[in-house]
Amino acid sequence: MNAASESEFPAADVLAIAAHRDDVEQTCGGTLLRMAARSLRTAILDLTQGEAGTRGSAEERAQEAQEAARRLGVSWRQALDLPDGAVENTLENRIKIARVLRLLCPRVVILPYWQARHPDHAAVAALGYEACFLSGLAKAPAAVGPTPLAAEPAPHRPFKIVYASLYADVRPSFIVDITPFIDQRHNALMAYRSQYANQAAGGALFVPEEEIRERTFAEARHYGLLAGVRYGEPFVQKEVGLVDDLTLLPVQSI
Ligand SMILES: [Zn+2]
Repeated sequence: MNAASESEFPAADVLAIAAHRDDVEQTCGGTLLRMAARSLRTAILDLTQGEAGTRGSAEERAQEAQEAARRLGVSWRQALDLPDGAVENTLENRIKIARVLRLLCPRVVILPYWQARHPDHAAVAALGYEACFLSGLAKAPAAVGPTPLAAEPAPHRPFKIVYASLYADVRPSFIVDITPFIDQRHNALMAYRSQYANQAAGGALFVPEEEIRERTFAEARHYGLLAGVRYGEPFVQKEVGLVDDLTLLPVQSI
């Protein structure tokens, strides 16, 4: 890894890892906007390139993803080359992700929740978690991949892993208030013109923009209400919470 390519990996505070381009926009885009507004550095790693999509080519989706990233204010976004629709938790794939983790050094990683209708989403939850573990191993497996992980930058293990649970029928551990960012999040999703612009191809599978807006705003309103704010995004954490001062606990009880 030479210096020029290392500079293409700016350090990130928060890294969202997702199966498909536009997953992040739908499940935690408002959260990334909120973190960026707090001057934290955000990044997105999409694991597939969208070649199995009904509409648009992988190249089109790459351009749309970069525009969406710009609208989300993220400092870095790339896609790996895992097969769209067949994401698997293999050592080779864990090494690909661990390599990115070592270069970006995120403190927080956002993964999709581990139970999901789309098998890719469920696979990424386990794959991402195990990649975070592998990334922190000083003596990582060296025999798989074009270059051994051991030859990459220093081991790094994220401090925190949270799961974006918007699509899961599960009670969230916490909500992030995205009220000031809901329109920006919608604009980022609409960067995927090949997927969401009103058009004829695949009309039975794809819903018009107005319906997308209504659905995503309603979901955000639902989760916002759970926490006493207008719009929110839900997350699950496996750990318990830790409290310093009971009088500063948010979300009113009665
Ligand atoms: Zn997806």
